[in-house]
Amino acid sequence: MDFSFSEELMMLRDLTRDFTDTQVRPLAAAIEREHHVPPGLMGVAIPEEYGGAGLGEAGLCVVMEELTRGDFAVAVTYGAHASIGGMSVLVGGTEAQKQRFLPDMAQGRILSAYALSEANAGSDPGAMTTTAVRDGAEWVLDGEKVWITAGDVADLVTVYAVTDKEQRAHGGVTAFLVPAGSRGFGVGKREEKMGQKGSSTVTLSFDGVRVPDDLRLGAVGDGFRIALATLDRGRLALGANCLGCAREAHALSVAYANQRETFGRPIGTKQAIQWMLADSATEIFAMEGMIWRTAALCDAGEPFSRQSAMVKLFASEALDRIVDRAVQIHGGMGYSAEFVVEKLYRDARVTRIYEGTSEIQRIVIARDVLKRGY
Ligand SMILES: Cc1cc2nc3c(=O)[nH]c(=O)nc-3n(C[C@H](O)[C@H](O)[C@H](O)COP(=O)(O)OP(=O)(O)OC[C@H]3O[C@@H](n4cnc5c(N)ncnc54)[C@H](O)[C@@H]3O)c2cc1C
Repeated sequence: MDFSFSEELMMLRDLTRDFTDTQVRPLAAAIEREHHVPPGLMGVAIPEEYGGAGLGEAGLCVVMEELTRGDFAVAVTYGAHASIGGMSVLVGGTEAQKQRFLPDMAQGRILSAYALSEANAGSDPGAMTTTAVRDGAEWVLDGEKVWITAGDVADLVTVYAVTDKEQRAHGGVTAFLVPAGSRGFGVGKREEKMGQKGSSTVTLSFDGVRVPDDLRLGAVGDGFRIALATLDRGRLALGANCLGCAREAHALSVAYANQRETFGRPIGTKQAIQWMLADSATEIFAMEGMIWRTAALCDAGEPFSRQSAMVKLFASEALDRIVDRAVQIHGGMGYSAEFVVEKLYRDARVTRIYEGTSEIQRIVIARDVLKRGY
């Protein structure tokens, strides 16, 4: 059993840590205020034969963890492209599509986003009503996708649409790569959110958008499988986001516990505070174990769907507890917008919701447990 990082992963971690400390962290307040993100490391998980760094899902998780330490919104904007947008091409594209798009995606010349959710189809994407109808050598898309992260900055959006109303989630959904700016492609206003304000979240509308058949991603009817297989990776990478945010909240809490004094002694000497720190440290350790083990399964080509749902469920719920403790340890200062923990608390909350809520992760895990046992 070997739990150590390869030399390449350690170099990647140091590089991302340095990028985060010098380029992201100093800008975090401005990113939140001005709602925008600087560009960075795009092709970490894309294999070398397609122009990427070839460091797999483990590499992506390293970057996600480190970027989130600096700013969650930056990491999420990056993830919309590097984790779910671009990954849908890797997971579902034909060889020709991979050759055509992945090198530019790896270099950040093409930015992508992932559009599955609709107003009445979030937890139940099979209820989607966006349609794609074939017309000669083209497809005509009509409908609306909501909550699309980075949908306003992406050049190419992976859109999932119904191509067979009878089959729907069972072979009736197909994926398409829709270029931004296509005629009939509309971008709505940015949602006002509780946290992660620097990352944009928009509605995308499709009013008779014509997409050539060579931008159909994978086979007709294979869209739902591609959507879910992409989410398996996305949920794991999101676990790494949670780990990065948890580490940051915990480090700030430890520093504050050593420095803040009440009754003549640092609050870190009080057992109530020590227990909170111990619980957070334990949960961070558990997150690490789950994330790196699941990344190893993914990169070895083993099944990891249940494990990524477990990572997403545990990491997001543990993060919520950790940021809550961080606010508590900071007392009144934890509630002040001048202290970073207030922002971490707001940024963390959505991790239990997007890429499938905690309830949906439990459904995914339980279904698999009932089928296969532990
Ligand atoms: C900031 C942000 C960014 C996002 N980015 C993207 C993106 O880039 N691309 C994209 O496609 N989507 C994105 N989403 C959408 C996100 O994936 C959905 O919001 C999420 O899947 C939940 O769907 P919903 O909001 O429709 O909630 P609903 O499905 O309406 O759920 C409401 C509540 O009911 C619960 N529930 C639903 N069904 C069940 C059930 N069977 N059993 C038990 N409980 C249930 C849910 O867990 C939840 O608590 C984003 C969302 C947010 C907030």
